[in-house]
Amino acid sequence: MFPPSPKQAFLVLNSGSSSIKFSVFEKTSDDVLTMILTGQLTGIGTDAQFSVKGAKGETLAKESWAERDTGAIAPLLQSLIAWITDRLPDTPLAAAGHRVVHGGRRFVHPVQVTPQVILDLESLIPLAPLHQPQNVSAIRVLAETFHDLPQIACFDTAFHHSQPRRARSYALPRELTDRGLHRYGFHGLSYEYIARHMPSIAPEIAEGRIVVAHLGNGSSLCALHRGESVDTTMGFSALEGVPMGTRSGSIDPGVLIYLIREMGMGADELEHLLYQRSGLLGVSGISNDMRVLLESDSPDAAEAVDLFCFRVAKEIAALAASMGGIDALVFTAGIGEHSEPVRARICERLAWLGITLDATANARAEGLISQPGSLPVLVVPTNEEYMIARHTADLVALKNVA
Ligand code: ADP
Repeated sequence: MFPPSPKQAFLVLNSGSSSIKFSVFEKTSDDVLTMILTGQLTGIGTDAQFSVKGAKGETLAKESWAERDTGAIAPLLQSLIAWITDRLPDTPLAAAGHRVVHGGRRFVHPVQVTPQVILDLESLIPLAPLHQPQNVSAIRVLAETFHDLPQIACFDTAFHHSQPRRARSYALPRELTDRGLHRYGFHGLSYEYIARHMPSIAPEIAEGRIVVAHLGNGSSLCALHRGESVDTTMGFSALEGVPMGTRSGSIDPGVLIYLIREMGMGADELEHLLYQRSGLLGVSGISNDMRVLLESDSPDAAEAVDLFCFRVAKEIAALAASMGGIDALVFTAGIGEHSEPVRARICERLAWLGITLDATANARAEGLISQPGSLPVLVVPTNEEYMIARHTADLVALKNVA
């Protein structure tokens, strides 16, 4: 008999339409989770490329997997798991954790995947047609190929279930709300990570009213009170709220009626317009990438950046109103963590809230970036992958004990 391995590996998967991002976390006997590998499969369906980095960012593999790319993800996921298990001969793969965009009303916590759960997740595809199919298909493939590998689904919507009904409702006829046409909110794994870590980062404000600005390619903001989500800017879909890389954010629904009636747009065209052709890209006509726009001398790029900062500042104030006040502002995700000028412009608009940034601290972009006496403003790097690994490891441990 061999003693059980003191270490376990957890695979974290984020499956998109043409790419799969993955990370592997190692759990040691003292329950500490450390990311040891991270990588992606890109170009799936055309010319799949596989790349992996180690914990310090060193490249471990960069290969073409085009010959295994039939357009189906099953052979690619099998190759990925074979590569990982070869690489980690002494650390058994204990489970896979998935990022699933929509949990609907039923899934308000991470859940172990069963055949019924897969069916339930498939039934939610109409709520998130651009992301849910890929999320569920990766789960189904692993369930069919690796019968003994426990899988845990972690939801972008789940963290927001603590919100009061008024924050979740649209002013629509009750029967539509009852059918699930209400606000769900997204980026929940990111907000949950921030909420869990605030007590160690800034214990004096962790229990207070915090607005978290998750500004990336997809952007949203969340009102956290005592570590729970009480309001957020994304709603029924990941379109509501602030403008994003290629998404419009909130627009008057009357615009949609006009586009349908006067411009003859159908559902697919509208979806493409609002998800792919709008936001920073649509306004600038140049790029969805904030870095490119900040470096550009085009007035249209400047307008896109200005519109983004204006709308984010407005939402921060709206979420403060939602909580009856604000005790701290946190920036996170690609733009939130890395863009000094965007943080500065947003905060300039919020001087009336008592916010004054410390320019040197803002340039350093770590922890507290506001001046003494200001409403505290912090930069906190998010880590959605860690959150998925944590839920996965915790649920697997719980099941084993049970
Ligand atoms: P996603 O929503 O896809 O997870 P991220 O949170 O990684 O995206 O954010 C990606 C975006 O962050 C990029 O599109 C880019 O606009 C922005 N970004 C990253 N680094 C910087 C930077 N140094 N300055 C400005 N923007 C940045």
